[in-house]
Amino acid sequence: MYLGGNYRLKYSPDTPKPLMLKNNRWVLSEVIMETMGIPGIQKTFRDFYIQKGESILAERVEYFAPKVGVKPGAISIRELGYHWASCGKNAALNFHWKTMLAPMTVIDYIVVHELCHLHHRNHTDAFWNEVDKVLPNYRERKEWLRSNGAALDV
Ligand SMILES: [Zn+2]
Repeated sequence: MYLGGNYRLKYSPDTPKPLMLKNNRWVLSEVIMETMGIPGIQKTFRDFYIQKGESILAERVEYFAPKVGVKPGAISIRELGYHWASCGKNAALNFHWKTMLAPMTVIDYIVVHELCHLHHRNHTDAFWNEVDKVLPNYRERKEWLRSNGAALDV
């Protein structure tokens, strides 16, 4: 899965990159399968999501930060266990690489949710009010996470 889409996997003996999305198919280097097996494939996908996440999430954070009225710090994409995102010291934002499996509308909700935590580090009415100001239809997106979250296991 990638950005809400489901794609079939194809192995290729010669690819310029370890993993690419081409003509609605994942194209994975056969060498990775042969030399590293399943763990190698999992790592290749994780690296792909982290790399894409670094540019996509940075762009969405930059887009929404002025709307929320916050100045976020550094952004990092990594393994976050059971959390989609978290915020740390100096307004640093961390996102789980699995956010890249969700549709863009849901990614935007995760970004806005985390940016609003820079105003309120809790889930009080005041916090949800901030989310609602920027994404009035956030409830559907939140629902998507609730019903698809478990399926987002790679
Ligand atoms: Zn939260």
